[in-house]
Amino acid sequence: MVKARRAIGLMGGTFNPIHYGHLVAAEAALDAFNLDQVIFIPSGQPPHKSGIFVADAEHRYLMTFLAIVSNQRFEMSRVEIDRSGPSYTSDTLSYFDQLDASAAWYFITGADAILDIVSWHNPDSIFRHAQLIAASRPGYSLNRIRALENQLGVKSGERIHPLEVPALAISSSQIRERLKGGLSIKYLVPEAVEHYIVKNAVYAALKA
Ligand code: NAP
Repeated sequence: MVKARRAIGLMGGTFNPIHYGHLVAAEAALDAFNLDQVIFIPSGQPPHKSGIFVADAEHRYLMTFLAIVSNQRFEMSRVEIDRSGPSYTSDTLSYFDQLDASAAWYFITGADAILDIVSWHNPDSIFRHAQLIAASRPGYSLNRIRALENQLGVKSGERIHPLEVPALAISSSQIRERLKGGLSIKYLVPEAVEHYIVKNAVYAALKA
């Protein structure tokens, strides 16, 4: 019997911090695209972040580890954390494609992030290496994705796949705002992540 081509999701994000919306989105992608596994890749130096407090990369790595460790189909990678310079997605996708050129790669991230892809480093290379899964909350207008596809000259649904995820009503910015205001983040992030944030005062600078 011929072995089917492995399909692997690469879940890119700053994860500042990781929350249940990210986890539900990755699980939904596994099912919707028949993936074998999802590899979470916290950004090292996010290329597009200025004026926002971004927790130390090692804290974001460890929070992500705590969040995914119990799911058999979730893995994670330090590739962007260990690479110096800005974390360009094109470099990350080439890295994974070289590791296993026979696999089908799916880069999963937020739909709003994908809308900016033309301004990312080397977008052509991104499309050569992977299909994109654009995770959004319900009610997100697909017109914006369609407009992007027109701009890129690709057929609708050929390279960019929208994925509606109700749990993405949760956002990292909302969690940071709550921490800043001294409010509870219980049930928005896994308990181990909540404890890690408190124990290590990961977002204490927000209150300063
Ligand atoms: P962002 O602009 O902070 O996020 C935009 C929206 O997408 C937010 O609502 C965010 O929610 C959501 N989002 C982010 N990652 C998500 C994920 N994995 N699943 C579901 N929703 C997600 O995005 P970012 O974190 O900086 O970047 C996202 C990815 O794009 C990263 O892998 C980053 O390296 C890559 N990127 C690459 C370039 C480049 O190569 N030049 C430039 C920009 C971004 P939360 O805030 O709740 O996560």
